[in-house]
Amino acid sequence: MNKTALVIGAGLGGLSTALRLSTKGYKVTILEKHHQAGGRLNQLKKDGFTFDVGPSFFSMSYEFKELFDYCKVNNPLQFNELNPLYSVYFSYKKKPYLIHKDLQKLSTEFSDEKDFVRKANAYLKAAKEVFHDTEYRVIKKNFEGKMDYLYQLTKVPLKHGPKLFRSMWSELEKHFETEEVKIIFSLVAFFLGATPFDTPAVYSLLNYTELQHDGYWNVKGGMYTITEEIVKLLQQNNVEIIYNTEIKQFVQEGNKLQGFIDQHGKKWTADIYVSNADAASFRGQILGRKSFNPDKLDKMDWTLSPFTIYLGVKGKLDNIHHHNYFLGENFKAYADKIFKTAVAPQKPYYYVNVSSKSNPECAPEGCENIFILCPMPDLRYKKDWSDRESLADTIIADLSQRIDFDLAANTLSRTIYDPIDWQKMFNLYQGSGLGLAHGMNQIGALRPSNKDEQFSNLYYVGASTIPGTGLPIVVISSKLVTDRILNEHGGTI
Ligand SMILES: Cc1cc2nc3c(=O)[nH]c(=O)nc-3n(C[C@H](O)[C@H](O)[C@H](O)COP(=O)(O)OP(=O)(O)OC[C@H]3O[C@@H](n4cnc5c(N)ncnc54)[C@H](O)[C@@H]3O)c2cc1C
Repeated sequence: MNKTALVIGAGLGGLSTALRLSTKGYKVTILEKHHQAGGRLNQLKKDGFTFDVGPSFFSMSYEFKELFDYCKVNNPLQFNELNPLYSVYFSYKKKPYLIHKDLQKLSTEFSDEKDFVRKANAYLKAAKEVFHDTEYRVIKKNFEGKMDYLYQLTKVPLKHGPKLFRSMWSELEKHFETEEVKIIFSLVAFFLGATPFDTPAVYSLLNYTELQHDGYWNVKGGMYTITEEIVKLLQQNNVEIIYNTEIKQFVQEGNKLQGFIDQHGKKWTADIYVSNADAASFRGQILGRKSFNPDKLDKMDWTLSPFTIYLGVKGKLDNIHHHNYFLGENFKAYADKIFKTAVAPQKPYYYVNVSSKSNPECAPEGCENIFILCPMPDLRYKKDWSDRESLADTIIADLSQRIDFDLAANTLSRTIYDPIDWQKMFNLYQGSGLGLAHGMNQIGALRPSNKDEQFSNLYYVGASTIPGTGLPIVVISSKLVTDRILNEHGGTI
């Protein structure tokens, strides 16, 4: 008889694990608290507009291909490479910088940086080495405890050691002179939900992944197509997804996990359990583990919170590309202070995505859909979001002025998600957008494990367990946890 698996959460981590396990013969059921699948990779349809609510692009596209190959199905997604990767607007510069993968072309954008191509090649060569020296030893690896992790680290060439202890910003200072080059290359730190000043230099490997390795991609039809296509494959594998169902408690007998209980008191049982809910806060809030009690959780390092705006506007925006960053003139001071204060910024820095530029079906004719993401302090630092409308007005007014288009006057649809909304929708701890941060004390075996400490049939997948956050990394997480489950409990085929 097939073994049964219960997956808690239909985020990308839960969906990909369910797809792998069902391919290997498990009878899988998914429970999801939200009304539709995807977790942070979700969709909002409103007033004739369609918005991706979270992710708008990804690196390492081959990880999705690996998932579909593993499950022996054709890749149902059509990937589009971003070219240029994105554009960056500084408040004090007239023209945006267009970030090309081709370094010769990029050097014309950075004409103030002498000898840019040589310097960039040297910087990216070192970043490439970090990536390839850690990909299989650290990133795509299940660890059997801290000793195993330390042992694996001894296989990483020693020359990368200093990069663990200096920041990404100081690494960039060693290579480049102009402020704009350093700032633009450091934006990848925000993809880890942190600033370049508190992100270790090893993550310069992300500059290699964006500029040289596989670049950035999105999906034809919008990012939510990823969720929709995986859900279709799950249906073909007879996986049932039950929505509006939130796990609140667990049941144990002796040392054995007996099942989970939802908000209505219904008990759910299976042979194997996989939690796609946050691997740290689930242990604290649902399992009541002391090492993840509220005090301990709050002392951990969490990534920044998203403040997101979804605008449907009448008219076409000619002065903006698909992916754009809008920055001010005091990057370091902004990054140093803004993420640990309860006061909303007067001159916010933000990211803007206009997906209707490449997916016209996401907006009515003659209109555009605009997604704005402004990284903010999490709820430990800023609890009160009663200023959300005025913060949104400030951002919209700033963007209007910078792209010379009156967004407020042409708005047909406006939705705001503040960190409290993000926390409520997907149980994101303190509204942290990307889960646990990726400092040296919270990666590898020092991150909450994908195997439970007490119950031999409970596992974890997703952004706050190994290897970490971001869409391709969460797909890797699903491979790691599936490997563990199959090793420890077997499959049926
Ligand atoms: C605004 C924003 C923008 C982003 N942009 C990008 C990007 O451009 N590129 C990129 O690669 N990454 C991006 N990310 C990160 C990326 O979205 C995440 O790393 C990834 O989606 C995490 O997937 P997950 O499966 O770990 O978690 P989630 O997507 O959070 O899924 C977990 C699921 O579990 C459910 N759940 C939680 N608790 C329970 C419970 N007790 N019972 C039942 N269900 C429960 C939740 O509702 C949720 O559906 C972004 C994130 C945000 C917030």
